[in-house]
Amino acid sequence: MKPRLTDVLELELEQSRQRVSQLEQQLLALNSTDQAIPPTAQLDNELRPLFDSSEDLIIFVDLEGSIVFANQATVVLLKAAEGLHVHAGLDVIKLFPADQIDFISHSFRLVKRGKTLRTNYTGANQREYAAIIQPVRDEQSIVGIAIFARDITKAHEMQQRLRRYEQIVASSPNLIALVDCNHQLQLVNDAFLQAFNKKRQFIIGSHINQLEATDSYSELTLPALEQAFLGRHIQLERWIDTPGIGRRFFSISYRPLRSQDLQPKFVVMTARDMTDLKRAETDRQRVFELSLDMLSISTMEGQFIETNPAWKRILGWSKEELRNKAWLELVVTEDLDSSTDVAARLNRGEIVVGFENRCRCKDGSVKWLAWSSYPDPEKKRIFSTVRDTTARKRMEEELLQLATTDPLTGASNRRYFIDCATSELARVRRYGSHMAVLMLDIDYFKEVNDTYGHSVGDEALKRLVDCCHQELRETDIFGRYGGEEFAAVLVNTDKAGALNICKRLLLKIAQLKIRAGSATVKITVSLGMTMHQADDSGIDALLKRADDALYQAKNQGRNQLVLS
Ligand code: GH3
Ligand code: MG
Ligand code: MG
Repeated sequence: MKPRLTDVLELELEQSRQRVSQLEQQLLALNSTDQAIPPTAQLDNELRPLFDSSEDLIIFVDLEGSIVFANQATVVLLKAAEGLHVHAGLDVIKLFPADQIDFISHSFRLVKRGKTLRTNYTGANQREYAAIIQPVRDEQSIVGIAIFARDITKAHEMQQRLRRYEQIVASSPNLIALVDCNHQLQLVNDAFLQAFNKKRQFIIGSHINQLEATDSYSELTLPALEQAFLGRHIQLERWIDTPGIGRRFFSISYRPLRSQDLQPKFVVMTARDMTDLKRAETDRQRVFELSLDMLSISTMEGQFIETNPAWKRILGWSKEELRNKAWLELVVTEDLDSSTDVAARLNRGEIVVGFENRCRCKDGSVKWLAWSSYPDPEKKRIFSTVRDTTARKRMEEELLQLATTDPLTGASNRRYFIDCATSELARVRRYGSHMAVLMLDIDYFKEVNDTYGHSVGDEALKRLVDCCHQELRETDIFGRYGGEEFAAVLVNTDKAGALNICKRLLLKIAQLKIRAGSATVKITVSLGMTMHQADDSGIDALLKRADDALYQAKNQGRNQLVLS
């Protein structure tokens, strides 16, 4: 016979069934020994408590159909479930729904003739009952009817649930088997049969060790089953070679199935095929290992849990050295404030993309890194991809240098000078501080070139720039404005201070000695200077005024300062 899950799980119901049949047997015994159930009038003190203690409905009816006795269960249950008020003297027919009355009256007629009937019927509120209706006799004749009924609504529902469950099990892609305490297979679903390439009749009743190699059985399956029969739910993951579907990776659960006495009588084994997931995981691991970027998984507090080999390659830190270390520990002091901010944002679950900072390598050198971090607050993990941007950063710095400085002298170029001067002017306007603008031009420079050659001219330009850088403060702005023309913005400097600096510049430049072979070349400059005024329209107006002053200095004989 083909065992079915419903049959096996019905064990749960069995005990209550046994109670019904016991009651039945008692009644049959009474009949067979011809010890008739006592007539209703004589229900003595001994039987009444017995009937009252029964969970089944017990009703005695006289031949006219009036209720003589209804036990406690009947009164309580019919009141609760159907709203009926059961009492002695009530016409028993009133207990049945209208559509059942014909059937019940017919049954009663048969019982009055001596028949015992077993029947199921549906009461009000869709309640299901299983009933035994039999005659009550005194020594000579039938004097009444006894009804023994049991509310099987719950059992019925449970049975239907079990049927549904059985269908689910049958169609499940998981391998499902029911193993008894002798470790014999009692039930398997189609997926299980397919995997082990066996016919049901050959697998049922066979020992589970028939399905796998002896050592994997004794190392894995046997201990798991033993634990499960002690009442524990065991889960494990493993590869299994199956004759039907090949080598597959399964997640297997061993779950004890308890009967009413709470002893695990069976273990349900469910194996879920995880091979594809496992393979995807392996692929992901491979990508993780091979990635050119540094990849990390850290706690929400920023402690490394996992890092890929790129960290070792790029920064020199091994996986073991990084584990449990906070990424902030790698950050250089200058970038610690901004990095601490980012760490706090990540901790709150914010995604941070493209954050750049500098981190220390194991050999003490420093690298620029760009972090893209994705916190997963549910998993309490931060996933980061980190790229070494040192080369790009260096290139950017070089490009910035190229874009802002004059390649010959290293001074700021004209455009960058004007940019910086413009921002400075805005600041001066906001805070009402002083600002001087000056322009200087080498005197008779054409002659230097003509006499000593262009390279000497170049050298003179470089020396002049070095000299100006030395004389001006770091906060001042200085740039090459044209061929041999330079400009400067002196910040936070009043007129007297600016005049002093200009005079010093004239002096220091005149003292420069530029080598030209064996000869020494000297140069002078003319200087125009102006102070910022409240009504200046912009930086151009200031530069124009300084240029006019410079022009005037040239006209007045050069090597001098004109203030405008
Ligand atoms: P002034 O006193 O009126 O300024 O006379 P000047 O000769 O300095 O003026 P002018 O404008 O006639 O000549 C400027 C010269 O500066 C012309 C050019 O050859 C030279 N010059 C401009 N840029 C460079 C450079 O990068 N290197 C060298 N060696 N010479 C330059
Ligand atoms: Mg000149
Ligand atoms: Mg010039």
